[in-house]
Amino acid sequence: MGVRWFPLVGWAERGGYLADGHGNSVPRFHVTWGTGPAVVAPFERRVRDAASSGLVGLRFRHRVDELTLTGGAVDGVRGAILEPSQAARGTRSSRTQVGEFELHAPAVIVTSGGIGGNFDLVRENWPDRLGPAPERMISGVPEHVDGRMLAIAERAGGRLVNRDRMWHYTEGIQNWDPIWARHGIRILPGPSSLWFDARGQRFPAPHFPGFDTLGTLAAIRATGFDYSWFVLTQKIIEKEFALSGSEQNPDLTGKDIKLTLSRVRPGAPAPVEALKRHGADFVVARTLPELVEGMNKLTASPLIDLADLERQIVARDREWTTRSPRTCRSWRSATRAATVVTGWRAPPPRTRSSTPRPVR
Ligand SMILES: Cc1cc2nc3c(=O)[nH]c(=O)nc-3n(C[C@H](O)[C@H](O)[C@H](O)COP(=O)(O)OP(=O)(O)OC[C@H]3O[C@@H](n4cnc5c(N)ncnc54)[C@H](O)[C@@H]3O)c2cc1C
Repeated sequence: MGVRWFPLVGWAERGGYLADGHGNSVPRFHVTWGTGPAVVAPFERRVRDAASSGLVGLRFRHRVDELTLTGGAVDGVRGAILEPSQAARGTRSSRTQVGEFELHAPAVIVTSGGIGGNFDLVRENWPDRLGPAPERMISGVPEHVDGRMLAIAERAGGRLVNRDRMWHYTEGIQNWDPIWARHGIRILPGPSSLWFDARGQRFPAPHFPGFDTLGTLAAIRATGFDYSWFVLTQKIIEKEFALSGSEQNPDLTGKDIKLTLSRVRPGAPAPVEALKRHGADFVVARTLPELVEGMNKLTASPLIDLADLERQIVARDREWTTRSPRTCRSWRSATRAATVVTGWRAPPPRTRSSTPRPVR
């Protein structure tokens, strides 16, 4: 097809429950060489070839508002033609109508994407099993991912299934340089950051970074708060933080070998460093008391207790410094604790994991 792969496989969503529970038992997260527009490009080329030979018709700026019916069968679409727009990819484009259209076909397939940009719809379909929907959310998708076609399809007699099968990432932070409204970026984390709830209590296994996002979401909602904390060091952020999104990975997106190789240099990748410096959700401090002070300033009430947080970090660090592999429980054995339950045989991949060391 023309889609190439970066020769490194990550291990996302490891799960961490029983061996017959959900979760990836092997690394299977493939990164394309050339992301976002580069993934679309080979398909676009073929579609444009077909369009130039008259096999395909492209109707940009045509918004479907209705599915048409004849004798109870869907036979076409009707909608508005929107005025031309030069809006950059992902940014809001004009919804001013300049005309109407109607098209008919023997078969109509709706491929209108998800609902993530429409928080009302997300809340309406929020499953009880995840606890109550958060008051505050950020969005990994632009506003046009509005789920509007679901109701349109339903009005035409479509039967909607699995409305509650939604996927949310809990390691989301506000983009300091947003492209769309409420723009959130997902941290693709390695396993070494310590994950605490709003009151500063470490989440139990298997709620470790990158293990089970929906399980962790339910755990966070059970605390009654809509946020949690990662506590980590500069070394961990340098090695383990990657950001989701083609614009956050200019090297992979642009197939830039030199820029990609610079990832092995010391220091965090530029987009990560920028988010650390400018991100509204980051607290950067030289000492733990300063860090806790900063965390408590960022929230409505000061919920983090320095002594309690320190106790948990010291306990975790002690496991690292206890050299016996039998008693060492951190990510290797945090993953091992999870490993025991999932039955993993292979060690976790080391490519994007910080060398085990104490956090303090
Ligand atoms: C933060 C984030 C990270 C992700 N990371 C990954 C990843 O690493 N790997 C992976 O495989 N997947 C990932 N995904 C998921 C993946 O991006 C989506 O599943 C995929 O893009 C959905 O494709 P789609 O064609 O179904 O919908 P879309 O790409 O949303 O396309 C739907 C199209 O329909 C159009 N449309 C909608 N309504 C109308 C209407 N009424 N009239 C006319 N046109 C309409 C829209 O304009 C849009 O062009 C991620 C998603 C998010 C949000």
